[in-house]
Amino acid sequence: MTQILPPRLVIGYVRLRRSAKAPTTPALIVYLRKHLPIKWQRVYTATATHAANIVRIERGTFEYYCDSYSGLEELGEVAFDQRVRDRVIGVLGTSTPMRRRRRGSFPDGWLEVAEELDGSNRDKGLFNAHSIGGALDVNVFSQNRNLNRGVSEQGKIYRQMERYCYEHPGTFCFSRPIYADTTSIPRWLEFGLLTSFLQGGEDVKRSDCQSLKSKASQSRCNSMREYNDNRHADAFRGKQMTAAPHNQLTSDTRPMAAVVVAHPDDETLWCGGYILAHPEFLWRIVTLCRATDSDRAPKFRQVLQALSAEGEMADLDDGTDQVPLPIEQVQQTIVQLMPAGSYNLIITHGPKGEYTRHRRHEECCQSVVELWQSGSIDTNRLWLFAYEDGGKSYLPRVREDADRRDVLAEKIWIEKCRLITDVYGYGADSWETRSTPREEGFWCFDSAQAAVKRTALWEQQ
Ligand SMILES: [Zn+2]
Repeated sequence: MTQILPPRLVIGYVRLRRSAKAPTTPALIVYLRKHLPIKWQRVYTATATHAANIVRIERGTFEYYCDSYSGLEELGEVAFDQRVRDRVIGVLGTSTPMRRRRRGSFPDGWLEVAEELDGSNRDKGLFNAHSIGGALDVNVFSQNRNLNRGVSEQGKIYRQMERYCYEHPGTFCFSRPIYADTTSIPRWLEFGLLTSFLQGGEDVKRSDCQSLKSKASQSRCNSMREYNDNRHADAFRGKQMTAAPHNQLTSDTRPMAAVVVAHPDDETLWCGGYILAHPEFLWRIVTLCRATDSDRAPKFRQVLQALSAEGEMADLDDGTDQVPLPIEQVQQTIVQLMPAGSYNLIITHGPKGEYTRHRRHEECCQSVVELWQSGSIDTNRLWLFAYEDGGKSYLPRVREDADRRDVLAEKIWIEKCRLITDVYGYGADSWETRSTPREEGFWCFDSAQAAVKRTALWEQQ
């Protein structure tokens, strides 16, 4: 029986690598070391049915990211629940030549993962007590032996990919167990490794244990051999990679919120105050346009930092003539910009934009609402910017019929203005600076049906 990984659990590895824009393999590794765990954690916490407590454990050149529920239990932060197990959510690192071990084998740290997967009679769990300082319940990990039953095919392929790592020291590789319940027994498993980046071509290989059982697995297996023959693949043989600092990865279990806007600056103009005032969310801010705008794109990244948000930009046409875009193209772009996972809140443009007139704002709103309705994006709540400019007769202001209006506190207001003037660099007399509203307004929906109904009404006005 083949089980495909549900979309909400999928991580776009190829896209992640592309977004790294890393000029060299070491730079890419630094990027992946930082961002893979963030992606894993985000999808994990969004789909876990219990509070997560992500801890990082270093071992040799590998780092293990684990959910230590028992840590929360010990602190009394959650009720004791014996059904919820401590478990690994991802392992990454670079292979190192180590002393030979039995069965000819693999680097330290790596071996532990391998043994989990190839059906050996291993008694020890993934970790041993001293290696983790007793932070996790080791006995729980040893239950992972169950995973081995009936998965020898996948074990072989795993072994093979692993052998590649062993034969090419310094190969960056990762493993991600994925769970469908609260036990420590993964339902799926992903394994990836990085090869021949400098020569281009596909370099992040991903597989999951279910697909490896299918016929398709054979071709993956073969391509793995081809990789072995690729003389460029060991471009960085023997080099030790240094781990990137991990100050960004904490046990961040904040709910996720996203802002989907047409342009860099819309996020600050229309909801910058709300973002600044609500650090309890993990913010992701995406724009449909201007990814290649050499002026605004770097400024947007600076703004992301100031907002403690992460984000991404796309590059849809944004010409002054505002040629309508096919709505499918806008929707596809949004889906690509929004990683798998469910959001607590998504904020986007209003159906008629915020002023007269920018078509991209309207297309953005329509797309997000339709994607929510079709289930392509998952959020508990959707808020739409609620502003109008009286058909250009005044600067945008909060609509009379807004569901929510917030007058920004002094400190927040000053910071919002600073982002517009100092970071985006709009002059004091510019439309943007003059328009920057101190009062922010939203229409708020907790069901797609309600949003569809009301935006339809709004569009008729
Ligand atoms: Zn805009």
